[in-house]
Amino acid sequence: MRIWELIYGGVLDILFPQKCVFCGKLLDGEPDICGKCRGAMEKFPELPPNTKPDGKSRLQFLDSFIAVWYYKGKVRDGILGLKFRYRVDYALPLGRSVAMKVLREQGTGFDAVTWAPVSALRRLRRGYDQSQLLARTVGKELGIPVRRLLKKQRHTPAQSRLTTEGRRANVLGAYCFAGKQSVAGKRILLIDDVFTTGATAEECARVLLTAGAKSVSCAAVAAAPGHSDK
Ligand SMILES: [Zn+2]
Repeated sequence: MRIWELIYGGVLDILFPQKCVFCGKLLDGEPDICGKCRGAMEKFPELPPNTKPDGKSRLQFLDSFIAVWYYKGKVRDGILGLKFRYRVDYALPLGRSVAMKVLREQGTGFDAVTWAPVSALRRLRRGYDQSQLLARTVGKELGIPVRRLLKKQRHTPAQSRLTTEGRRANVLGAYCFAGKQSVAGKRILLIDDVFTTGATAEECARVLLTAGAKSVSCAAVAAAPGHSDK
């Protein structure tokens, strides 16, 4: 089976050569994103345990937090493209990069991968949920089942113009547990696109812990410490 997959993949590479998702340049062995684009994407550092992206504040409900890049430049363009310009093809390279970082810094000891969902209204308008697409890629890359565990039960105003306190109030009670099976004793990996103050991810973690989860860790494509553009 494996050999046929390799041959098939090789034929596909010849017929449809792999191109950088961001600039369209032909790739030379590197995965998904060319060296030049990758070089322009500023890596987010590994944080001390239990710390928010600002490097100082403590996480409240989340066990750990990681992000691949800073939310700026090409990374910001990519995420905005995925969210608002139907660039669903960005979910694969961005999700794969998240999976690599999870593997390096958080390990694979998770029972399920889930995501912070958009509201039903937003999903209907957009046609997809970008964080679900990212979570699917991460789960597939790491071999961890992807489960829909959360539902956004009310539409919330955009977080962008709110203060940290305002953001927390804005999302409080916005999500409810929606898993088909119990999460009692399970270790959950929560995937998000951008982690700003962490209000959304922390609220999702609170709901999952209340539902019995043992721990919730968050992995995001990008972190924006001090940024307000979500
Ligand atoms: Zn490129």
